[in-house]
Amino acid sequence: MSSFVLPPAPTPSVPVAGEETRFPVRRIFCVGRNYADHAREMGHDPDREPPFFFTKPADALLTGDADLPYPAATADLHFEGELVVALGAGGADLSPDQATGLIWGHAAGNDLTRRDLQAQAKAAGRPWDMAKGFDRSAVCGAIRRADGPMRRGRLTLSVNGQVRQDSDLSAMIWPVADIIAHLSRLVTLAPGDLIYTGTPAGVGALRRGDVATVAIEGLEPVTTRVV
Ligand code: MN
Repeated sequence: MSSFVLPPAPTPSVPVAGEETRFPVRRIFCVGRNYADHAREMGHDPDREPPFFFTKPADALLTGDADLPYPAATADLHFEGELVVALGAGGADLSPDQATGLIWGHAAGNDLTRRDLQAQAKAAGRPWDMAKGFDRSAVCGAIRRADGPMRRGRLTLSVNGQVRQDSDLSAMIWPVADIIAHLSRLVTLAPGDLIYTGTPAGVGALRRGDVATVAIEGLEPVTTRVV
């Protein structure tokens, strides 16, 4: 058996709500815009565009209400409160019904974004990686086990106690099962994958000293203080 030339990196992981064990993370996928502005856009529009995806490194996780040192190379750090889906099984080319069977649990998360770098990337037609996949950019609260997809529940993001995002999971354009099914046509999904499912309106900047809390009905809230 061959050995490694360097010590292998530790496995990134997320706490499990009410348990001592942790959820090992393999990859982090994120969905682009996934909340409709108007009631008629909710859920059943036959002309809707398919969801699009980007990724963050698994070791970009920030868990357990840890502090966030203000990130490098930005003057416009943004919060995005999101439902995170954790997969306990894998598969490819799945139907939404089959995709439901992959779900292990859910968490509240914050898809931190260097908005200024993202705007530059968009303008130049360049990748989003450095806007989205920087160190500690994937805030994730404790994962709560689930038997199936969360379809509804209030989602709020508060900064210093003031509510800045306030929506409901039922407002997603693409519900959880559809997101997993779409993603499974692009990559073979695996146990340990996390999916950030998009953010509702109201995103904005975080500054040093701010405290951001993402709360989703039925899940553990996650709080991040910017230092
Ligand atoms: Mn997002």
